[in-house]
Amino acid sequence: MRRSRNAKIIATLGPATSTPQAIEGLFNAGADVFRLNFSHGTHAQHQARYDAIRELERKVHRPIAVLADLQGPKLRVGKFLGDVVRLEAGAPFRLDLSEELGSAQRAPLLHPEVFAALGIGTELLLDDGKVRLRVERHGTDFADTRVITGGDLSNHKGVNVPNVVLPISPLTEKDVIDLEFAVDMGADWIALSFVQRASDVQEARRLIAERVGTRVRLLSKLEKPSAIEHLDDIIELSDAVMVARGDLGVECPLEMVPILQKRIVRACRAVGKPVVVATQMLDSMVHAPSPTRAEASDVATAVYDGADAVMLSAETASGDYPIDAVTMMDRIIDRVERDEHYRVITDAARRSPEHTTRDAISAAARQVAHTVGAAAIVTYTSSGSTTMRAARERPEQPILSLTSDIEVARQLALVWGAHTCVLTKEVRGFAEMVNKAVHFALHEGFAQTIDRIVITAGVPFGCSGTTNILRVVEIAEHSEHGHG
Ligand code: PGA
Ligand code: MN
Repeated sequence: MRRSRNAKIIATLGPATSTPQAIEGLFNAGADVFRLNFSHGTHAQHQARYDAIRELERKVHRPIAVLADLQGPKLRVGKFLGDVVRLEAGAPFRLDLSEELGSAQRAPLLHPEVFAALGIGTELLLDDGKVRLRVERHGTDFADTRVITGGDLSNHKGVNVPNVVLPISPLTEKDVIDLEFAVDMGADWIALSFVQRASDVQEARRLIAERVGTRVRLLSKLEKPSAIEHLDDIIELSDAVMVARGDLGVECPLEMVPILQKRIVRACRAVGKPVVVATQMLDSMVHAPSPTRAEASDVATAVYDGADAVMLSAETASGDYPIDAVTMMDRIIDRVERDEHYRVITDAARRSPEHTTRDAISAAARQVAHTVGAAAIVTYTSSGSTTMRAARERPEQPILSLTSDIEVARQLALVWGAHTCVLTKEVRGFAEMVNKAVHFALHEGFAQTIDRIVITAGVPFGCSGTTNILRVVEIAEHSEHGHG
């Protein structure tokens, strides 16, 4: 079964979706990318999910991306006796460095740097701001607080300290260990949490470069005010970006989230870097079989804005309706993309090509495909760049991507509109490439024998970033005998 929509779906795996059957169910419902969240779970659990994804990939013959999401310098409370406690407004609550299980009176917060940076009156936001505490007294290893807003608090919930700059490195010791594990395992994308400055991205890239033989790509999660201040620099140094609305909405005033979402998406679209909109998209589906109208509208807005991918977190990781959530997202995206106003908005938001050969060719491919009414644009790529530049154009035709590099094919699963076919070997010449393009377009049902397709590639083959060929092929006049 081929997918016809352009915007991609990222599904986070977790306790609700760890079996090969569950993962296959998510894929069949529409998940293109699986996120392994290193804030939770053991390496053995991530490895088992990874193996199941690769097994599924062999079965369905479709490249699937694995996004390994590093926790980053996220502060979290420890565990509680009985896993969850209720904090009442007005009650005292202590945070300290003891690893002893927490209660309704105290909890472990194993981050000494926080206690050093707190002041009297500092507000601590727990579980995405659902629970608020105010510091009344603190030492080097504890803080006595008052509960301002009460609620349930469970194991490992996040702690944000919005108004205090914490002296914390962008990659914690745990991140470095997880990074090495994820890269060696074969993750296609690494997500960096709480990126604050461009040098955080460079630091991660240096660490990845030290692992031999990997071309893993970096996605920066934008969830700190300081990242917004350095937005363009961070986008330039990253391979993709995520609007991480969960922490962004705690660290910044909530009314800034929609504005920042649009600003980040626009900035990424301008330069052609993939952008993901994440968190709480169908949040009520964690416990209900259908979303709220507002949530359906939220997913649609991200698609109208031109996001490459939309993400499900707890909905698929720990929710009661993981497959329904993906199905719902798939339906919303599909419906938006068939709205004629979607095309109007997409064309209006289009940016002119950069003054490079590859962008000139990509823009021309879009125009030619439109003029001749082509069935598809086929991009032949060795690094992924030809396909990604075609995606930047947001053409009305499906973008087919041919590559002999399985890692590139997997990475492109995150990219708007890319339908990728992995070639078993490098093509040897132009005629063979055309044959492969025609075969793929026909075989996957993107074109019929009466159609035309537009092909872009970089010649000589194998040199990345050299898109310089544009060819229109009339399938009827083209013999594809002896290829497959
Ligand atoms: P998280 O990141 O789910 O890892 O916290 C996404 C977000 O903050 O929105
Ligand atoms: Mn986050």
